Amino acid sequence: MKLLEDKIREEGIILGDGVLKVDRFLNHQIDPALMQALGNEFAHLYKDAGITKILTVETSGIAPAVFAGLALGVPVVFGRKNKSITLLDNLYTTSVYSYTKQVSNEISISKDFLNEDDYVLIIDDFLANGQAVAGLLSICRSAHAEVAGIGIVIEKSFQKGRRWIEETGIRIESLARIASLENNEVVFVSEGEHV
Ligand code: 5GP
Repeated sequence: MKLLEDKIREEGIILGDGVLKVDRFLNHQIDPALMQALGNEFAHLYKDAGITKILTVETSGIAPAVFAGLALGVPVVFGRKNKSITLLDNLYTTSVYSYTKQVSNEISISKDFLNEDDYVLIIDDFLANGQAVAGLLSICRSAHAEVAGIGIVIEKSFQKGRRWIEETGIRIESLARIASLENNEVVFVSEGEHV
């Protein structure tokens, strides 16, 4: 998606170890117009997939997921990282290792909001090694919910997540695919290129 690629080129900051900082529009300050455009694009891509629910993880998946939910007319549920006193039981829980924070978090979703009637679109801000997506897939399996597809805002195609998801056979759509962050330059996967 050109709008997103341009934004990454203009405002993304490359840190060491293959990490891209996008605090100016996605991970800290949020650009609402861009988030709406991302949500609309996910909705367009999955409009015929029969989605009944969008699943994401707090915090940065929520903004694009809400706009996708608005466009598709379905609710959005986010995995919670901290169990509050209002969220103690009746939960699906899984452990997810965070690529950027290098710690494992328990992710929980109430059984009230996911069940075997759901046809789920998983949305997340980044795809690196696929741990966050794997956690959400495992929660969907526990709930006997069907996963119709995965929508990623920024995929780092040089890491393992993409290949792993392709091997599961689940549809994946990434709005920006980064082939490399080497030499302080963002190189995107070009259309038709297989990475
Ligand atoms: P994965 O679970 O696919 O290994 O990593 C995805 C999660 O790690 C995302 O939800 C995101 O929070 C974080 N992440 C991974 N790589 C990056 C990156 O390069 N930049 C930022 N800002 N977050 C990342």
